Amino acid sequence: MPKPLRRAGVMGWPIDHSLSPRLHRFWLKAYRLEGAYDAYAVRPDGLADTLRSLAAQGLCGVNLTIPHKETALTLMDALSPEASRIGAVNLVSVDPQGRLCGHNTDAFGFAQNLLSCGFERTRGTAVVLGAGGACRAVLVALQDMGFTTIVLANRTQARAETAAQALSSPSCPIHVVAWDDLSEALSVADLLVNTTPLGMAGQPEIVLDLAPLPQTASVADVVYAPLDTTLLRRSRARGLKTIDGLGMLLHQARPSFKAFFGQDPDVSQALREAVLKEVG
Ligand code: NAP
Repeated sequence: MPKPLRRAGVMGWPIDHSLSPRLHRFWLKAYRLEGAYDAYAVRPDGLADTLRSLAAQGLCGVNLTIPHKETALTLMDALSPEASRIGAVNLVSVDPQGRLCGHNTDAFGFAQNLLSCGFERTRGTAVVLGAGGACRAVLVALQDMGFTTIVLANRTQARAETAAQALSSPSCPIHVVAWDDLSEALSVADLLVNTTPLGMAGQPEIVLDLAPLPQTASVADVVYAPLDTTLLRRSRARGLKTIDGLGMLLHQARPSFKAFFGQDPDVSQALREAVLKEVG
């Protein structure tokens, strides 16, 4: 008897912007796997019922995107440690008992992207801009990689303080400073990370003096549209190593593909090019 088709997908509202179907379908084809990955527009008020009926709909799991990632926390039967720490779920798998298990793969994606770009420093100081969902994933990733100090700055300082309070640890404290007072922290930074949408197409540019950064520092951006943000261009002009946001997007999808279809996929140049065509 033929094996039933593995079906998965991504749920959001709206959902048309999602790159996940292109990514997962690329891998299904590359690995010649029988499976389907589709986009589902799910209204916020319909999320709980939709998730409860995943197995009945023939889905082995789903990814969640805006605006469902935080709401889903309360709808899971079990949460991974990363999902609890980050405070958001972007992967839901259904276990053999039909229970919903919530995971978050963004921290994995960020760390794997850094490592795949040859960034191997596992101790040191990181300066992080932002305090939203992407930021919390980056903070968790940096702590788990072994960074020993994180300095956090956000437009709304109170939000940065909430994130720092939730995630600060003895082995990697998170200090909040005002955006305009970053120069001292930048002067000892091993890594600067932008987790805000600043620099994204249609958004203002980041206003930040990069001069204090040591010559050995690296600069990472989570923005991937455009791929080469002004922050990254300015950093390269200073001779600094840069890491773009597309790799995080591609690597964060790997654990989902493995959970849905049983294969840990490669992030290849061909995949980057296929996804870049969509990003423009
Ligand atoms: P979010 O939860 O809405 O948080 C946005 C953060 O950026 C907040 O800290 C916000 O500050 C700050 N911000 C927004 N507009 C700003 C402005 N004009 N000036 C200064 N600060 C501003 O969003 P998110 O989910 O963290 O996403 C942030 C970015 O990361 C987006 O561009 C998203 O596409 C990207 N992202 C990329 C990946 C990837 O895989 N590469 C994954 C996730 C997200 P306030 O607190 O003051 O509002």
